[in-house]
Amino acid sequence: MNPYNIMTIMTVSRIQQFLKSFHMKYYSIHTRTSEPSSTYDAVIIGGGHNGLVAAAYLQKSGIQTCVLEKRHIVGGAAVTEEIVPGFKFSRASYVLSLLRPHIYSDLELKKHGLKMYSRNPSSYTPLRESAWQKNGARSLTLGLDELRNERQIAMFSQKDSQAYRHYEEKVKRLVTAIEPILDLSVADTMTFLRAESVWGKINALLRSPCLRKAATSVSLLGADIPALYEFLTAPASSILNHWFESEPLKATLSTDAVIGTMTGPYTPGSGYVLLHHMMGGTGWSYPKGGMGAVTQAMAAAAASYGAHIFTNVEVSRICLNGDGQAAGVVTSEGREIKATIVMSNATPYVTFQKLLPQAALPEKFQAAIESINYASPITKINGQYNYFTV
Ligand SMILES: Cc1cc2nc3c(=O)[nH]c(=O)nc-3n(C[C@H](O)[C@H](O)[C@H](O)COP(=O)(O)OP(=O)(O)OC[C@H]3O[C@@H](n4cnc5c(N)ncnc54)[C@H](O)[C@@H]3O)c2cc1C
Repeated sequence: MNPYNIMTIMTVSRIQQFLKSFHMKYYSIHTRTSEPSSTYDAVIIGGGHNGLVAAAYLQKSGIQTCVLEKRHIVGGAAVTEEIVPGFKFSRASYVLSLLRPHIYSDLELKKHGLKMYSRNPSSYTPLRESAWQKNGARSLTLGLDELRNERQIAMFSQKDSQAYRHYEEKVKRLVTAIEPILDLSVADTMTFLRAESVWGKINALLRSPCLRKAATSVSLLGADIPALYEFLTAPASSILNHWFESEPLKATLSTDAVIGTMTGPYTPGSGYVLLHHMMGGTGWSYPKGGMGAVTQAMAAAAASYGAHIFTNVEVSRICLNGDGQAAGVVTSEGREIKATIVMSNATPYVTFQKLLPQAALPEKFQAAIESINYASPITKINGQYNYFTV
């Protein structure tokens, strides 16, 4: 008998069929069952984590906000769903990393039920038989305990076990300098790029609070600026080869350089992906109840401030006023909802190609949207194991 008895790996259509019959059982608890009003201050298209956080902040600041989510559950890619009866899955996104600490505290996500467990151990790399070591090492496990990490790495290379500590310190310094940039509002890079003279560029830099803060943050790195440049531009392989000699360690660290990207560790720029995955103020963790617990806590926060959240409501069109400004939305059932602020949590492609009349957008802008590359290397299989032996 096959020991890896995966009872259920469903095809997409079967999953859809199944969810249709099942979705009432695990629905979003903070959503409203009544109809949306005809007017709000702000309408948010889509209830992914970004839409929900925006809704919570807007509503908290007194702006009457409504979220319209087309699925039966809010959360977007960060959802927990009972795909197989009796088993709940983090259906797409599965580990929490970049939730900003101020969002966690501002929206009181702990009070709203979010509990996180540190990802420890963080990685387990089993080796094929030909790579087993004479000292008995058959795998490499890394986690939060520095001494244990050193002992684990030393089974493959004494030199690497010492270098690892310095590598971690260096990366932490780089992260400390660039992580605050994640919290700045979007920089006006166009003025900077369009300026023709050097003085014009300096002026644009000085006038943009965001670029100024980013420059200050990076300048604090001093002698580590070349190391930051290397991470931003080089392939992860050249950075890891520079620090380490053992293949199991380099292979393990490389996984953070390729997750979610159409690149390999030898692709220039994969160094940044590596650095990106070292960030995360709340630490890498697994939420109790799966990733849906994160978005349910966000929905609970938004609802507690008074935001209206609706599921099974798809927006089919963004309405514009005579000046070409967004003035509301129309749902797929033809209901019009007026709002002075319209925010979209859908992709730029959906927002600008599907929901807005094309005549409203400059051709250059449309071309830029069309050229966005949405190719993804991700495939996720959610399965239920009857039993599992190694
Ligand atoms: C398989 C997979 C695994 C991942 N793993 C991780 C991970 O482990 N850790 C991590 O940090 N990130 C992970 N990610 C990335 C992360 O999940 C996404 O970046 C994140 O969920 C994006 O959030 P969002 O709110 O911007 O958009 P989404 O989560 O995409 O939410 C958009 C919402 O808008 C709704 N919507 C769209 N159009 C309309 C419309 N016309 N009307 C009404 N509603 C609409 C959608 O139904 C959806 O609910 C993963 C992604 C995938 C696909």
